[in-house]
Amino acid sequence: MLTFPIDTKPEFGIPMMVEEGIFLLKMPIPYTLDHINLWLLRDVEGWTIVDSGFYSEESVLLWNKVLTDFCDNEPIQKIIITHFHPDHVGMAQWLAHKTSATVHMSQIEYLTTHMACQDYSDEQKVVRCQYFERFGLGQEEVGKLQNRIGGYVVGVPEAPISYQRLVDGESILINNEAWHLLQFSGHSPGHICLHHKQRDLLISGDQVLPNISPNISVNFNEPEGNPLADYLESLDSLSTLSNETTVLPSHGRVFNGLRERLTVLKDGHHKSLDQLRSFCQSGRSGLEVIEELYGNRLSLFNLSLGTGEAMAHLNYLIEIGDMSRTGDAVYQYKTN
Ligand SMILES: [Zn+2]
Repeated sequence: MLTFPIDTKPEFGIPMMVEEGIFLLKMPIPYTLDHINLWLLRDVEGWTIVDSGFYSEESVLLWNKVLTDFCDNEPIQKIIITHFHPDHVGMAQWLAHKTSATVHMSQIEYLTTHMACQDYSDEQKVVRCQYFERFGLGQEEVGKLQNRIGGYVVGVPEAPISYQRLVDGESILINNEAWHLLQFSGHSPGHICLHHKQRDLLISGDQVLPNISPNISVNFNEPEGNPLADYLESLDSLSTLSNETTVLPSHGRVFNGLRERLTVLKDGHHKSLDQLRSFCQSGRSGLEVIEELYGNRLSLFNLSLGTGEAMAHLNYLIEIGDMSRTGDAVYQYKTN
């Protein structure tokens, strides 16, 4: 059973104390999931910010107010970004410019942000279309999906220009307290979580969320990738932390019950893997697998996420020898 130590519901743009010196800043994002939790941490002579939000005029207004009123124009010491997704990195450069603070990220998330902010070349579009076609998507959807969709075009107007590198296993001092850096792959290539050992606190980003299972996707530029293996490994690694840990996630409520949550996330993926082992007894296309797992009424954005996530499960099964893939123009997946 998860428990939720904070009863008060945060309001958009109004920092709410969740622990001594740690404030949750709820900001709007343009998805079904309507919010992201950012963190404001008391630092020596000022504040450190963890994650920045999705860029929008509304976010600019809210941030301006927070920096002036709540932070009382005190200096911002660091801007820490957990990973490259637009709701996390979107306002990092705006904040860096505004506050003169340095952006801190893992090297791979920094580089991936820059990659994600580029338009696709014609040749990249061909490879991207092939990735969807091979998975059995129709021509109309493939045509719409050849260009970048989702948040980068509007949500990340500028990738961070310069940064300071966060390294797995090292610590970062915030308010003279050490936060241990844990880097994981699966949801993104080098997602940073921050763990305060003495206070049993984990700023988990999207790596562990209380209500939803983070998207685990194979990307068109690494079609044989196995991010689900990386993600499951990260869950095992996180399960070595104390079950007393208070988890500060990027979406949803602050919670206790880390081990239970990790078990549920792991079981969910294993259930999907079992489902695909039986579903693919007769050969199936990728699109049939998407519909089996997520239904057939997906928006274009969710269809692209569904493609990546279905492929992640299939690639995992191929890697452990439980599934075979045949065909070239359109793949067929069949359980061994
Ligand atoms: Zn994310």
